Amino acid sequence: MQHRIVVLGAGYAGAIAAGRLARRLRPEDVAVTLVNPDPDFVERVRLHQLAVGRSLRPRPFAEMFAGTGVELKLARVTGIDADRRTVAVTGVNGAEELAYDTLVYALGSGWDDQGVPGTAEHAEQLASRAGALRLRERLAALDAGRPVVVVGGGLTGVEAAAEIAEARPDLDVALVARGGLGDWLSPKGRTHLRKVFGGLGITVHEHTAVTAVEAGHVVTADGTSVPAAVTVWTTGFAVHPLARATTLEVTDDTGQIVVDRTMRSVSHPDVYAVGDAAMAMGPGDKPLRMSCASGGFTAWQAADAIAARLTGGKLPNVAIRYFNQCISLGRREGLIQYVTADDRAVRAALTGRAAAVYKELVCKGAAWGVANPMLGMPTRRRRVVPEPARTGATATARA
Ligand SMILES: Cc1cc2nc3c(=O)[nH]c(=O)nc-3n(C[C@H](O)[C@H](O)[C@H](O)COP(=O)(O)OP(=O)(O)OC[C@H]3O[C@@H](n4cnc5c(N)ncnc54)[C@H](O)[C@@H]3O)c2cc1C
Repeated sequence: MQHRIVVLGAGYAGAIAAGRLARRLRPEDVAVTLVNPDPDFVERVRLHQLAVGRSLRPRPFAEMFAGTGVELKLARVTGIDADRRTVAVTGVNGAEELAYDTLVYALGSGWDDQGVPGTAEHAEQLASRAGALRLRERLAALDAGRPVVVVGGGLTGVEAAAEIAEARPDLDVALVARGGLGDWLSPKGRTHLRKVFGGLGITVHEHTAVTAVEAGHVVTADGTSVPAAVTVWTTGFAVHPLARATTLEVTDDTGQIVVDRTMRSVSHPDVYAVGDAAMAMGPGDKPLRMSCASGGFTAWQAADAIAARLTGGKLPNVAIRYFNQCISLGRREGLIQYVTADDRAVRAALTGRAAAVYKELVCKGAAWGVANPMLGMPTRRRRVVPEPARTGATATARA
């Protein structure tokens, strides 16, 4: 009987995990099913581009997985019974239940409104394609001179504000940041960010918290009203609530699934979590940042560990480290902030047109990596071995 591997979510992490598993294991031994509501891959790191009216290249999964054996099930996951090893999904065939032997949970994240009143009614977001398309409509309908407020001074907020200001120089764009603008960057990085924001005419409200979003404006902690014909909410990501409703061990605060270094759930050994949905530790014993960069790594790690355990092979032992933070500042400008292994800024940073080109290559490379999850290495599909012969890999994992 085939070993049933079900992968939930086909973002960067889920799609890479499914594709890599299918290339590591013999199709007669395993059935890899990938569950996702959409038939094409969404380049989430480009959603701010979509929001300002640019088109993204279609990337149909049917092409991406052609000949690999991955079966794409177009459906939405509605529940998981981690003890019975079943997943409830709803798709074109209505509601059904999928049984698994190994589950890879990769449902990613959405926007985090942080409970601020009025966000659901009055703010737009770009954490999902639907959100970015709605924001695109709202921006397109704005007349010249109208105010747009981006709330959140992290990577997504900075990229969104710059993208909007560059694409729509006729709008009055502002960014509200809880801290100082780019305060995690090196002095060179911060200076460059200020210079680009100045050139784009973006007003920055630093050390300011938004406490409410209302029609036509946002309200800050000191009671100031900042005019906003459109408010874009970018104060971080929140993971899908589904995992919290299961018996899987999740973190109290974020609801991410707690995994070991092979991305295996610490409570359920037949479940793996990857990408934004996983609470995995990186260098310096710090949790990995929700990012495309760490998502790809967790997917390789999970796929290789699952394959090793099923085939009695050697478990992967690759240490993750960060190299840089790649920040687009519109299409003509960028900032590559080099970082330590545990993601702290060092002095060196690449700026200007070269950084914009670099960031574009990184985005292209990330999409290429989804379609080519072996990164060009030769594919060698191994046989799944009977249960007793797998103990070697398990023992190594616990060592
Ligand atoms: C505008 C923007 C810019 C960004 N820029 C960068 C960047 O420059 N660098 C970087 O490293 N990171 C960046 N990120 C973060 C990065 O996109 C995420 O960390 C990354 O997408 C996480 O990958 P993932 O596969 O875990 O989750 P996701 O990409 O969120 O994928 C989750 C998948 O699960 C599917 N799904 C969700 N719910 C269900 C359900 N109920 N049933 C079935 N399927 C479901 C979704 O449709 C999706 O396909 C950016 C994010 C945004 C929004």
